[in-house]
Amino acid sequence: MSLAALPSRATALRRVSVTARTAGAMLLDMLLPPRCAACDEAVERQGQFCFKCFGAARFIAEPACRCCGVPFENAGLAGPDRVCVECAAQPPAWRQARAAFVYGEFSRRLILPLKYGDRTEMAAVLGAHMARAGQRLLVGADVLVPVPLHRRRLRRRRYNQAALLCRALSRSTGVPFGLDVLRRVKATAPLAGLGGQDRLASLSGAIEVRETRRSVVAGRSVVLVDDVLTTGATASACAAALMAAGAASVDVLAAARTVRDG
Ligand SMILES: [Zn+2]
Ligand SMILES: [Zn+2]
Repeated sequence: MSLAALPSRATALRRVSVTARTAGAMLLDMLLPPRCAACDEAVERQGQFCFKCFGAARFIAEPACRCCGVPFENAGLAGPDRVCVECAAQPPAWRQARAAFVYGEFSRRLILPLKYGDRTEMAAVLGAHMARAGQRLLVGADVLVPVPLHRRRLRRRRYNQAALLCRALSRSTGVPFGLDVLRRVKATAPLAGLGGQDRLASLSGAIEVRETRRSVVAGRSVVLVDDVLTTGATASACAAALMAAGAASVDVLAAARTVRDG
């Protein structure tokens, strides 16, 4: 085969593979019709929500705190610097945080199956909404880094849900990821039920940047990825470790975040 023939063959092969993929997707749609990502209702395309679920979804949109991303009920509550009371009192270690959904009944239906039910395909669904919510953070991002699990928990669960979200985000945005940049050097008790200060104390010295991965973050704009942002204590510990390793900036992107209702 001549060298001149190579590009056209490559193009042809690419066309064949695209056609095969499209045919494959059509065949899959015939055998397994697309279902709503949050319930079992039939939808047009894989990954979509049905009409009812779309109505129930609590998407986070502006106006939101510039710093932690908590949504404000109206722009009047935001104040001139658009920072919430908590962030004004104690600025977090990261620059900006954004989340796709309010953590609640609806988003739990997407996140819990990913976290505990081996439904790893949910990462793509959540990743698409995270890409929308974190658009501004992702434009300037150099690398995506997941919040790490301790190796014992990783062994039990077999995968880190934040790493799966990183991969999904990287696929749709082209931003590279560094899955093993951060590590938990000590196992922490589950943080659920602990207040903000107790969480911070429990996490002190628990997370660090691996010595061999410092060059991945030094001088770079990092987007830290997690499934749920609660008090922000874990994200703060990660951000502090990344900044100490020389990161130029750390932003946080989560699938969902808790908000105080009422
Ligand atoms: Zn549905
Ligand atoms: Zn805030």
